[in-house]
Amino acid sequence: MGIIKIQQGDITTMAVDAIVNAANTTLLGGGGVDGAIHQAAGPELLVACQQLHGCATGEAKITAGYQLPAKYVIHTPGPIWRDGSQSEAQLLHNSYANSLALAAAHHCRTVAFPSISTGVYRYPLAQAATIALTTIRDFLLQNKGVQIVTLVCFDQRTLAAYQQAYRDVVG
Ligand code: ADP
Repeated sequence: MGIIKIQQGDITTMAVDAIVNAANTTLLGGGGVDGAIHQAAGPELLVACQQLHGCATGEAKITAGYQLPAKYVIHTPGPIWRDGSQSEAQLLHNSYANSLALAAAHHCRTVAFPSISTGVYRYPLAQAATIALTTIRDFLLQNKGVQIVTLVCFDQRTLAAYQQAYRDVVG
């Protein structure tokens, strides 16, 4: 079984095999973590993303990391929170599960995630953290070659929510 780490920080500094980008469906860049990743990776990342012709919510696509310390960037648009009745939970699960499957297919052993959908997309933080931890735990139990998954929380409130979800889900 792999391990799950939770830390506060900036995902663009992570020297891992793959970082995950909370993208939008155009894959052409945006604000928040998406903007930070494009800024740090340099303009080649946008050129690579333009070749991908977008990505559906909950799906994932991969590029190189260019100027980032990470080898790959896995781009996944999480769901926009509406009222919880629009398959938001299933779609958020899919973003984590499809990103991990793509990482495993590219022989990544270390993967870092931001808190997908809890910024501009307004997904309730505690619920999102529980889905993230449950999906990552279940994936690691199946041992697909991924060894360390780090949840990189940008602020203290996000860190506290993921630490609570870890206690609830992993123990
Ligand atoms: P979404 O549109 O999926 O909600 P956002 O980028 O708006 O994506 O927010 C997702 C999370 O990423 C938020 O918790 C936000 O604070 C966080 N975030 C923003 N910049 C960074 C960064 N450089 N590293 C890690 N997390 C970040």
